[in-house]
Amino acid sequence: MSFTELKGNILACDDCTEKFGFTPVPIVHGNERSKIIQISQAPSNNVHLTKKPFNDPSGAKLKYKWYQITDDVFYNEDHFYITALSHCFPGKNAKGGDNPPPLACARKWLRKELEAVNNELFVIIGSKAAKFLFPNESFDGLVFKNNTLNDKPAIVLPHPSPLNRKWFKDHPLFEEKRLPEIREIVRKVLWEISG
Ligand code: SF4
Repeated sequence: MSFTELKGNILACDDCTEKFGFTPVPIVHGNERSKIIQISQAPSNNVHLTKKPFNDPSGAKLKYKWYQITDDVFYNEDHFYITALSHCFPGKNAKGGDNPPPLACARKWLRKELEAVNNELFVIIGSKAAKFLFPNESFDGLVFKNNTLNDKPAIVLPHPSPLNRKWFKDHPLFEEKRLPEIREIVRKVLWEISG
């Protein structure tokens, strides 16, 4: 299957209509030349409504504070291929939080995407995505070291959601020491592209 066919099939997928109780909106952004594949958990409700990935408070923190890049750089399809375990917002639970991502989505699409895109770097966001891709490693261990996925460099970030404040409180070294290293790795790939 070509990349174009694969992306078209993902965007047309409605497998979870019954499970979610509403029409799913698959979110996938990028092309087969994207240099960084970014894999997170699932789109938020705001992303579902606007159809624009990371168009929410988590995205603002990721783009402007952590990567320190503009929207023009982030949404350039030669830069980031943006995908997730669940390509669609999975709805809300009774307590108002987001439902867990359906892993059937990741099993159906994610490996195919990783094979179809000729990236240089993986950025994995959040413990659920890390557990899916590195099932035998501790999340904290993955965040604080450089990893390898499909023989390519891979870095792991905590989820930038404002709801994740306990993890940041418990791990002050992330923003003090590890984040500058990660920012350097990401920006090095981006600046290589822009020359
Ligand atoms: S979450 Fe994944 S499997 Fe479910 S409808 Fe969306 S693209 Fe299809």
